Formats: sequence, structure tokens, C-alpha cells
Amino acid sequence: MATRARTDKRPFDIPRMLRRIEEAIRPYPPAAMFALADLGYRSLFEQLVGCVISVRTRDEVSLPTSIRLFEVARTPAAMMGLSVTRIDSLIRASTFHEAKARDIHTLARRTMTELGGTLPCDGSVLTSFHGIGPKCANLALGIACGHGRPAVDVHVHRITNRWGIIHTRTPEETMEALEGVVERRDWVRINRLLVPFGKHICTARRPRCSSCVVNAYCRQIGVVDYV
Ligand code: SF4
Repeated sequence: MATRARTDKRPFDIPRMLRRIEEAIRPYPPAAMFALADLGYRSLFEQLVGCVISVRTRDEVSLPTSIRLFEVARTPAAMMGLSVTRIDSLIRASTFHEAKARDIHTLARRTMTELGGTLPCDGSVLTSFHGIGPKCANLALGIACGHGRPAVDVHVHRITNRWGIIHTRTPEETMEALEGVVERRDWVRINRLLVPFGKHICTARRPRCSSCVVNAYCRQIGVVDYV
């Protein structure tokens, strides 16, 4: 439901808002792909596989599932050596595991047979693989290659529209719009911060606005029921 923007707010100061959110999310675990990177699984291949596994799967499940798979195979060559059935058995806890197992095996096989064994830091190549959309590609590029475009998932899309810094209908539109309002150095960081922020504070239903650290800036667009 749309509401009128609040007018009793401070001008946007995104660097300061992000700093406040960084503090606010400190008690919460990082999102799965950042947690994988912290554990040393930060190659482009590992990040993409981790993202495929995380699709429509809670971090509490996708993180140990990815680690379980990587303990058996964490390179394109090793993954190609596994059968689809074996990959499927290792990621069975994830939703849509059969399709994901096929996608992961294809990613490994094509990397070996078409790309010389190494994935390039090129978004158009990454999104040419079935099962890898812009969110996974951008996040993996940001973490593994140090560049990319803003990685937008449902949390980033919802929160930045609530703030009122952008007005978009889809994550794809949000990705384009954020490039104009968020500094390039924060394109990956914004995902790292807003995923736990969206899971625990600016939740889809009944966000915790009364105690929110960026309430002074947030126009609370569309927020009609909050605590
Ligand atoms: S919790 Fe409320 S005040 Fe904070 S960012 Fe979300 S909508 Fe804005």
C-alpha cells in the first residue's frame, strides 16, 4: 500500500546511514555469501555455487550445505568430476536441489571445457549460465573480483524504496537506480549490510521503525504497520 512520504526527516546521508546500520547489525550473522567469503570460500566459482545453493533457501541451511559440498569439491575441475546425482545428494537440504545440482555441474563443466578452467570477472559471461541471475553475478563479482554492480535482493530492493532514495518496481530497476545514488565503493557493502538489516530490523512485515537507527532519514514509504 502506498503512503505519502514523511516530511519531518533529515536530508539523506547514505554514508552515515550505512555506518549506523553497520553498528546495528553487529549482533547478527552475516549473509551466507559473505559468511562463505569469511571462511575462505571467496573464489568466483565458489561464490557462484554458494549463491545458486542459497536461492530460496534460508542462510541457516544454505551455508552448511555449501560447506558440505565444498569439502568434497571446490574447484571447477573437482566439481566436474562429481556426478549430478552426487552433487544432488550433497546439497539435498537446499530447495530445488535437483535443478541446482544440474546447474552447478553445468557451471563446472562449461568452465572447464569452454573457459579454460577459470571463470572470467565478466557479468555477461556469468549470467549466461542457467540458474545465475544478476543478483548472484553481481554479488560474486563484488566479493571475488572487487567490482560489479549493486547486488540487489528482496531486502535491498524493499529497504531502499522504503527509505525513499529510489522509486522502483523490480530488483533490476533498483540495481540501475542505486548506481546513481550510492557510491561505487558501497555497491557490495550495501548488500552485506541490508540483508541482515532486512531480516532482523527493517523486516518485510512490521519493521522495527520505533527503534531504527536510520529512522531520522527514512521516509518510510509504504510502511503502514510498524513496531
Ligand atoms: S525499520 Fe522503518 S525506519 Fe528503519 S529503515 Fe525500515 S522502514 Fe525505515
